[in-house]
Amino acid sequence: MELASRVRQLQPSQTLGITALVQALRREGKNVIGLGAGEPDFDTPHVIKEAAIEAIESGHTKYTAVSGMPELKEAVCAKYQREIGHKFSPQQVLIAGGAKHALANAIMALCESGHEIIIPAPYWTSYIELARFSGATPVVLETSEDSSFKITPQQLESAISPRSKVLLLNTPSNPTGAVYSRAEIEALLQVINRHDLFVVFDEIYEKILYDGHEHVCLASYPEVLDKLILINGVSKTYAMTGWRVGYLVAPEPLIKACTKIQGHTTSNPCTISQHASIAALQAEPEIVERMVVEFDERRRFLVAALNEVNGLKCLTPGGAFYTYPNIAAYLGRQHAGTKIETSMDLCNYLLEEGGVAVVPGEAFGTSEHIRISYATSMENLKEAVSRMRRVLAQLD
Ligand code: PMP
Ligand code: GLU
Repeated sequence: MELASRVRQLQPSQTLGITALVQALRREGKNVIGLGAGEPDFDTPHVIKEAAIEAIESGHTKYTAVSGMPELKEAVCAKYQREIGHKFSPQQVLIAGGAKHALANAIMALCESGHEIIIPAPYWTSYIELARFSGATPVVLETSEDSSFKITPQQLESAISPRSKVLLLNTPSNPTGAVYSRAEIEALLQVINRHDLFVVFDEIYEKILYDGHEHVCLASYPEVLDKLILINGVSKTYAMTGWRVGYLVAPEPLIKACTKIQGHTTSNPCTISQHASIAALQAEPEIVERMVVEFDERRRFLVAALNEVNGLKCLTPGGAFYTYPNIAAYLGRQHAGTKIETSMDLCNYLLEEGGVAVVPGEAFGTSEHIRISYATSMENLKEAVSRMRRVLAQLD
C-alpha cells in the first residue's frame, strides 16, 4: 500500500510497544516483569471514579464543546491561580484526549517544513516523532550524567537559528527524572527572552517529586506568557492514563487553532472522563501525596540496588517514576553467541534471558542507557534487579 510519506517515516512508539510486548509474552505464559510502562500502577482514586459514575447516571453522555467543558477549563484555571498565582482565562485552555494529544495539537498548529524544534535529549520518544510528523526538523541538544541530563543556557543559545520555532522543555523529565531548579529555569528564560521562540513546557510529572525538589512552572514568569504553551494532564498525577484527558494552556490564537484541529479530527475528549477530571483537579492533595510516598520508597531501593550491580551507573532522579542507568560497560560484551552492540540488544537480552522488560535508550535519543520504570510493586522490583544481576553477570 502506498502510504503518505509523513507516515512512512514515522516510527512506532517504543514506550507503548514494550508494554504491548510484555502483555503478548504473558499471554503466551511467559513470566515477564514489565518495567517498561510509563503509567502509575495505582488504581484511579475512588472519588474520581465516583464522579464518572455520577456523570453516566445523570446522563452526561453527549458531546461537550469541542475544546472541552467550561467547568473543566475553570478547574484548570483555578489550579494555576492556586499554585502560581496567575489567572488564565478559560479561552486560554484546551482540553484534549491526553497530554500527548494536547502536544500533537500544539505542534501541528505551530510547526511546518522549514521550522526547527529544539529538543533536549534524552527526550520522551514522541517529541521527535511529532516534530518530524509536522514536517519540521528536530534539533537535538545532547546532555549526559555530567550535566545531570539538563541543558545549559549556552547550549540553548548556540542551537537557536532563524528557523527555530519551538523549544520543547520537559521537567520533571521522562526518561531521566531530571528536575530543573528555579535558578536553571531562570537562566534558560534569559536566553528565551532574547529570541522569537515558542516554548512548549511539558509539566505532566509536576507533582511527582522527591528529596525536596520543587517544580518551577514557566508560567510563573509573566514576560514569557505570550510565547508559552503549557502541556499537562491528569494521567500521571491521578493515575488516570486510561481516561485520556490532558490539557494545553496557551495564548488564545493557539487555542483557537487547536480547537479547529480537534473540531475536524477528534471532537471533544470523552465527556465522562472530563467529569472525572474535574473531580481530580478539585481533589485533596493527599490522594497524590500517598502515591508519591510509595514511588519514593521504590526509587530509593532501585537506585541503590542498580548502583550495586557491577558496571551500572545510575543517577538519582528528582522526579517522575523512571531511572535511566548507564549501561555502557556492557556494550561489546557477549553470551552464548549473543553479542551486545546496542542498548536495544541489551534490552532484548534482558527480556529473553531474564524475563525483564525495560526500554532501550535509543527510544529517548541516547545509546548507552536503559529506562527502568518503578511504577510497579517493590516485590517486582526486587525480583527484577536480582534477575538483571544474574544475566548481566553471564556476559563475557
Ligand atoms: N509527556 C510526557 C513527558 C509523558 O511521559 C507522557 C506519557 N504518556 C505524556 C506527555 C502523555 O501523557 P498522556 O497519557 O496524558 O497522553
Ligand atoms: N509516556 C509513557 C512512557 O513514556 C506512556 C507511554 C507513551 O504514551 O509513550 O512510557
